[in-house]
Amino acid sequence: MSENTLSQRLHALQTQIPPHVRLVAVTKQVPVAVIRHAYALGLRDFGESRVQEAQAKAQALADLPDITWHLIGHLQTNKARPALHLFPWIHSVDSLPLAQKLDQLSQDLPRPPHLLLQVKLRPDPQKYGWTVPELCAALPALSQLHHVNIVGLMTILPLGLTASERQQVFSELPALGAQLQPHLPLREYSMGMSDDYPQALAAGATILRLGRCLFGERPKETDAIPPIQ
Ligand SMILES: *Cc1c(COP(=O)(O)O)cnc(C)c1O
Repeated sequence: MSENTLSQRLHALQTQIPPHVRLVAVTKQVPVAVIRHAYALGLRDFGESRVQEAQAKAQALADLPDITWHLIGHLQTNKARPALHLFPWIHSVDSLPLAQKLDQLSQDLPRPPHLLLQVKLRPDPQKYGWTVPELCAALPALSQLHHVNIVGLMTILPLGLTASERQQVFSELPALGAQLQPHLPLREYSMGMSDDYPQALAAGATILRLGRCLFGERPKETDAIPPIQ
């Protein structure tokens, strides 16, 4: 993709995104050279799905001091330690054992990480995340975790909804957060991807995670980690 295209896409998006909403540019499978260009255009928040891919990129971009990396993909408990080293934000906390592990490991960190709890607002066997009843059941244990900042909720919609259904489902996330606020100080709602961010904004998103509408289509997903350029 030409550099102009990225800058045009970003400017078009910025006219739609209110200033209080954080744009996380999702750079999975995006080469380091393109991330550098995105940085030069002013982006500072970058989202990655895999710890290993992100580590390689962070190393290649170590000369850019003020990047904030966001983990948006499923995290295995055995990768929690390297994940905490790289990501001050983890959007994909999807189980109590993972949350507890992150809390335990965060005792030694200079700053507590920002965690978001990934919620499945509709049943979806393909996705990780808490159902609402599961999350409610975990609340007492989650509110005992004092080395992490649980700041919000994240969701990914199931496929096949109309625009008005998407907005309806998204609006359940801030409503759920408000319900849980006596237990957890939730204020961030990470929702909205390239195909559904207008509905997420209308429903109260505070963080958008956008990949393809900035960087273009990704090559077909494989398990292989793409070369770092
Ligand atoms: C890939 C990914 C995104 C970005 O998706 P696009 O459709 O490219 O905008 C957002 N969130 C998560 C969890 C993802 O895995």
